[in-house]
Amino acid sequence: MAFARHLFALLLLLAACSGRAAPLKPLSVYFFDVGQGDAALIVSPSGKTVLIDAGPPEADERLAPRVRELVQGPLDLVILTHPHLDHLGGMVRILQTVGARRFMDPGFDHPSEAYRKLLEVVGRDVGQVMTPTPNPNNPEAPLTIGLGEGTSLSIFWPRVPQQPFLKDTRSDPNSNSIVARLSHGGTSFLFTGDAEPETEAALLARSVDLRATVLKVAHHGGRYSSTAPFLAAVRPQAAVISCGAGNEYGHPTAEALQRLGAQGARVLRTDRDGEVLAVSDGDRVTFTTRKGNTPPLVVSGGPAGPSTPLAPSVDVPPRTAPSKTEHTAPPPAGTGPTRYVGLKGSKVFHREDCATLRRSKTQGRTIYTDRDAALRERRPSEDCKP
Ligand SMILES: [Zn+2]
Ligand SMILES: [Zn+2]
Repeated sequence: MAFARHLFALLLLLAACSGRAAPLKPLSVYFFDVGQGDAALIVSPSGKTVLIDAGPPEADERLAPRVRELVQGPLDLVILTHPHLDHLGGMVRILQTVGARRFMDPGFDHPSEAYRKLLEVVGRDVGQVMTPTPNPNNPEAPLTIGLGEGTSLSIFWPRVPQQPFLKDTRSDPNSNSIVARLSHGGTSFLFTGDAEPETEAALLARSVDLRATVLKVAHHGGRYSSTAPFLAAVRPQAAVISCGAGNEYGHPTAEALQRLGAQGARVLRTDRDGEVLAVSDGDRVTFTTRKGNTPPLVVSGGPAGPSTPLAPSVDVPPRTAPSKTEHTAPPPAGTGPTRYVGLKGSKVFHREDCATLRRSKTQGRTIYTDRDAALRERRPSEDCKP
């Protein structure tokens, strides 16, 4: 017993010295490669599973077996963010082959054959049907669903009956998409379905904390969504866009990509990267991608942190199975974009917030605002790995 107590004390001391809380059990979020559509699976640290959307009909045959591989027993919850075909196409098969204990959709009426068929299957096969209605005893707070071990999912939109559905927007089904935030320790994920600017404005008008480490970009990177004020409130470190290669809508649009870039978010895209897996230890989120076109990366959590751009990292060769390489995210350093610094007489460059620089002379420094420019003249320093 004495030994166990000493060990415990030592572990506490180590956690305190490292300046970080001990990592939590991992939370995984899979952003499936479904072509032009959305489908994501949450697997909580205690094994609770939530599927958010189920891709377009074309992905139907591939998606159900993939979800089956990852989920034993029925899904704890299936969320349909809104009744468009690129989000519900694979849902009936998943309900029939994997099963679900609970189903939630916005409750927004939509006169399509596919949605009617889905509701039929839901009514027959799913135990409980939920709406995102806030708790009447605390109507200002979002409906929050516990996923065990402190992980939870809060539904920010819609808020019927406290607030009516948005009407006369570019697309009312999109505008009333379920918007939900998943929290795990100091990290969080914001799922936005196909939210429109009106949805973003409605959320901004409320005093909800929208900050998130990872943003599932609204409407496949469409040009109207992901407005600058919304992104400034979310302050994502990383953004995942689910869209099909060469899709006819031109998703993701240059406008949305530009706004995400201006916010300093690293973008991952299912059309280029294939399936994207994000794993959170409560402190940091590590991304691995199926195709590996985007370098694997780690973003620090703590939604309160400034939106510091991540360290660009080296290209990795394409691979067939997800692999993992860790690049430690830079510590928060002001709100501007990361700059790089070369010291006079040295062939390397550092991240501006590198500890080595703080001990070096300030004269004769070369400042680079872009890493590529620095790379043309110098190599990355070993200590801060810019
Ligand atoms: Zn969509
Ligand atoms: Zn839609």
